[in-house]
Amino acid sequence: MTISEPSRESVSQAKQRCIEPKCGASYGLNERVYVCKSCGSLLDLELNVEQAFDANSLRSLWRERLQSLEPRDRSGVWRYRELLPFANDAPIVSLNEGNTPLYDAPRCADYCALDSLLLKHQGCNPTGSFKDTGMTTAVTQARILGVRLLVCASTGNTSASLAAYAARAGLLCAIMVPEGQVSHAKLAQSLDYGAKVLEIEGNFDACMRAMRELAEDESIYLVNSINPFRIEGQKTVAAELAEQLNWQMPDHLVVPGGNLGNSSAFGKGLHELYQLGLIDRMPCITIVQAVGAAPLASLFLQHEQDLMVEDPTFDIVNLDQPHTLASAIKIGAPVSWKKAWRALRWTSGRVLTVSEQEIADAKAIIGRDAIGCEPDSATTVAGIKKLVAAGTIKDDEKVVAVLTGHLLKDTDYVINYHSQKLSMSWESGAGNVNQIVGHFSNQPVRVEASQKAIRQVLEHMQNEQEPHINPA
Ligand SMILES: [Zn+2]
Repeated sequence: MTISEPSRESVSQAKQRCIEPKCGASYGLNERVYVCKSCGSLLDLELNVEQAFDANSLRSLWRERLQSLEPRDRSGVWRYRELLPFANDAPIVSLNEGNTPLYDAPRCADYCALDSLLLKHQGCNPTGSFKDTGMTTAVTQARILGVRLLVCASTGNTSASLAAYAARAGLLCAIMVPEGQVSHAKLAQSLDYGAKVLEIEGNFDACMRAMRELAEDESIYLVNSINPFRIEGQKTVAAELAEQLNWQMPDHLVVPGGNLGNSSAFGKGLHELYQLGLIDRMPCITIVQAVGAAPLASLFLQHEQDLMVEDPTFDIVNLDQPHTLASAIKIGAPVSWKKAWRALRWTSGRVLTVSEQEIADAKAIIGRDAIGCEPDSATTVAGIKKLVAAGTIKDDEKVVAVLTGHLLKDTDYVINYHSQKLSMSWESGAGNVNQIVGHFSNQPVRVEASQKAIRQVLEHMQNEQEPHINPA
């Protein structure tokens, strides 16, 4: 079946534009620029989709593509290509990303004291994290620009994803990771996909600084979350979610907050869907950070009353030593904070923090729903539980939490939790240790290799009560 492709004049008019209202400088679509040359701020892709399409024709076009066998239509990102700044004949680099499930999570709902809760599992992407949805567009742009070497700094998931997409495109790839701070699974992925791995002495923010110094080099292309083409791919998850909900938005959309590219992308995606008339209201975006790595939450606490100001003059205060076991969000200097703040403004959103204990227990409950995720993703369920307890979210409201990474991304954390060995230490003057209790731990039992001994355990299992999901 061939679906007729609508013409895309909006692409030829697309621009990269500085997000600072008082600057507003614009750059060509294929100009290699990472931040605004006149003010140093972040760039956005500007695409005038609304002139070309109406909501109903877009909905049916996207629905029709679900039946298609064409690779572009099979991708959960490129299926929504009318929202993307690429021509119809762009040389796309895809691994069938997107198309992630939206799960009903009854045990998590009980745990949070909600009537129901939906989990959008972005960890079900090809390399196990939401990063793939942005990498497909960024590496496609690299191919359009004709570059050979791609570079990123990462807490692990971005590097695994870039390594995979660079390999798929036949391009060279180097990744910078903080030495000794990246999970084995993520490192294993990057090595297997053939990336050159540079272990940098220092934390993620040090990697990021080192990388930004490379921006002047014309022979390489930087693929960090400041790269606006990544946000473009990532924003399509808003369209996929809306479609899965039959275009009825929930009351609340809850996302983990680290480098804030994900919340920025959701904000842009939802804003565009709203402008196109595809959705008739915006869900309230809640960003949840780990308490030891929460610069945006601190900013929100101080400036919540200024949320609706279009052109805020305040700046985020970065942390030198962020600490959390949720390594994917262990970030003290989130580069995308202004775009995330804009997402909060557009959706009357909020930011909160959760403790290491709250993250660990929420993660175990997500596992009990047969879903599972990496620790950062569990900040969402932990945050929802707090907001329901505080009366901010009502028990009958519709809530969607976004899980960003797969359970198998960090198995050390899981094993340590279930064997009561999970703890965090960090430097703060005399040093601190935070011991985490596995309230829902599930430890292996050693059994003699005899039928009698095994039967005893199995009989005992059948007499046990359903595990309680609310810790005393
Ligand atoms: Zn500017």
